[in-house]
Parts: sequence; C-alpha cells; structure tokens
Amino acid sequence: MQEKRFCQSCLLPIATHSMTGTNADGSPNKKFCWNCYRNGSFTAPEITLQEMEQKVKKVLEANQIPANVIDLSINYLPRLVRWRN
Ligand SMILES: [Zn+2]
Repeated sequence: MQEKRFCQSCLLPIATHSMTGTNADGSPNKKFCWNCYRNGSFTAPEITLQEMEQKVKKVLEANQIPANVIDLSINYLPRLVRWRN
C-alpha cells in the first residue's frame, strides 16, 4: 500500500503525480505539492502561516469538509516542515 502523502506546506493530500511539486531540475519534490512549490521555489514565498491557515480553510470549506476536521487540519499546520521554524 502506498503511503499517503500530504504537502508539508498546505497539508493538502498529494494524491497523484501531477500534484507533486518540482525541484529546480524538474525532478519531483516529495515534500510539497504543485500549488505550493514549483521549479525549486515556493509559489508564494511571502505567505505567512496565518495567511496559509485562511487559504487552507477556504479550500476545505469549498470541499464541504466538516468544521471539526477543518479545525484539526488548521491546528496541525504549524507542525508541517515549512512552518516549524
Ligand atoms: Zn501545498
């Protein structure tokens, strides 16, 4: 069974190869999704954790994710690789 991967920036699942971020040399980056990380750099390098929380919340709400699951996800964001510092 393949391990389920989550983006270490936005927590969204990286379900398919086309959703995987890319390194500067074009190889897949296993930590981040395509929305967050492309060609070796973050697509929104200035975004703050608070802004990311709002962004993720909107995406989850748009997907009709239950509010308690959204809260859990938002609370987990600071533990992701990108936000640990
Ligand atoms: Zn992401």
